[in-house]
Amino acid sequence: MKAFYQLCILIGLVIKTHSGPVPPSIGEEEEDLAKNYLKKLYNMKESTRSFGRMVSEMSEKLREMQEFFGLEVTGTLDAETLEVMKKPRCGVPDVAAYAVVPGNLKWKTNQLTYRIENYTPDMSQAEVDSSIERAFKVWADVTPLRFTRIYSGVADIMISFVVRDHGDGYPFDGPHGFLAHAFFPGPGIGGDAHFDDDESFTFSSSNGYNLFLVAAHEFGHALGLEHSGDPGALMYPSYSFRDVKTFVLPQDDVNGIQAIYGRNTEVPVDPEEPKPTAPVTPNACDPKLVLDAVTLLRGEMIFFKNSLFWRNQPLSYQSEQHLIKSFWPEAPENIDAAYESPSDDLVYFIKGQKVWAFYGYDIAKGYPKTLSSMGLPPKVKKISAALYDQESGKTLFFVNDRYYSYDGTTKKMDEGYPKRVEDDFPGMTGKVTAAFQYRGFTYLYSGPRMFEFGYGRLLRVLSNNYFLPC
Ligand SMILES: [Zn+2]
Ligand SMILES: [Zn+2]
Repeated sequence: MKAFYQLCILIGLVIKTHSGPVPPSIGEEEEDLAKNYLKKLYNMKESTRSFGRMVSEMSEKLREMQEFFGLEVTGTLDAETLEVMKKPRCGVPDVAAYAVVPGNLKWKTNQLTYRIENYTPDMSQAEVDSSIERAFKVWADVTPLRFTRIYSGVADIMISFVVRDHGDGYPFDGPHGFLAHAFFPGPGIGGDAHFDDDESFTFSSSNGYNLFLVAAHEFGHALGLEHSGDPGALMYPSYSFRDVKTFVLPQDDVNGIQAIYGRNTEVPVDPEEPKPTAPVTPNACDPKLVLDAVTLLRGEMIFFKNSLFWRNQPLSYQSEQHLIKSFWPEAPENIDAAYESPSDDLVYFIKGQKVWAFYGYDIAKGYPKTLSSMGLPPKVKKISAALYDQESGKTLFFVNDRYYSYDGTTKKMDEGYPKRVEDDFPGMTGKVTAAFQYRGFTYLYSGPRMFEFGYGRLLRVLSNNYFLPC
């Protein structure tokens, strides 16, 4: 029996052509894409029976997939589902794998060997060696696993760059599409990782697929990890670029690998250099949640926290969580403020002294710029929130408990500011940490609380997760 369960395929699709949350039309091509996706990744059977049966199986598989990704479970191929299918991702059978091989995906020794069989021309050999070494270190840092490189013979984890049909029954498909695949622990091909050399792999840039990130994900499978539904996890099925220099294995992956192999008992204690803590994906149900920034973007609500954001689809009240970098590779994390300017169809992110502007997900020419280029006085070192006021067409910049008014047309700050927030928003206390307007209401966040203003007065005091799924 062919052990299909062992396979994990990383798929990279059209991230660069993605230009904003405009729903794609669903045509025949999209239908085929979805069928292929479900066959390869959700073990949907070839249609040998009647059309009706095919439709019901597709619907069932769509439900499984929608559930895994936290989408609205409709069983139909809607625009949101298609959008997720088009994103770069790893193609392990997300759900079926558990059913086929319960447990037992583990090396019996902590001393493992790897061998790099060949190289990609995309990078220097030293860069490939370094990327691979670092990808193993990510896992060795948090477990008793130790990896030794060998240069001949058969290693536990054999690493190769291959194209198209390469003899294991899982051919690659040229540029994009499948990026790489790896096999779960076991003898022979078990543990091996294959990289599609029709891709453009990179050492440090976000242009192309970062080999370290792809390899670290694949080695997670080679060590026995399945996919995670946590969008902040390395083992989330989607490929997304992250800052490689500051990469720290997220807590979800640490928990996963330590559940199999245990902790690293020989963590060197260096008081000079405290270890960066593993990032934890923000939870909408955390009563202490304080959002970094909130904005509208082409009709959707976007809520930022650390390296992730939630995105609310209009009307459906569905909320998805993603890494900021997977939508805006050029954007910073932990942003201070964000707002949308409908007149120029740009969304602005502010962090420290810098301002970024994006058309949908594409960075606008000339950005990032400095905060002072917007006419704020030089003494303003940090914005704490920003909102676009639909009625006046002005943008309000909050600096703690004061605010400035900015005219986007003249590109100048208005006279007579800053004003005290409390004077114009009576009942609002504390400094403003995030702000936006929605359907004519103004929402000012302060710490874990959110103040709702309408009809010229304070209407309600709510919590940060009011618009989020919890
Ligand atoms: Zn994977
Ligand atoms: Zn292969």
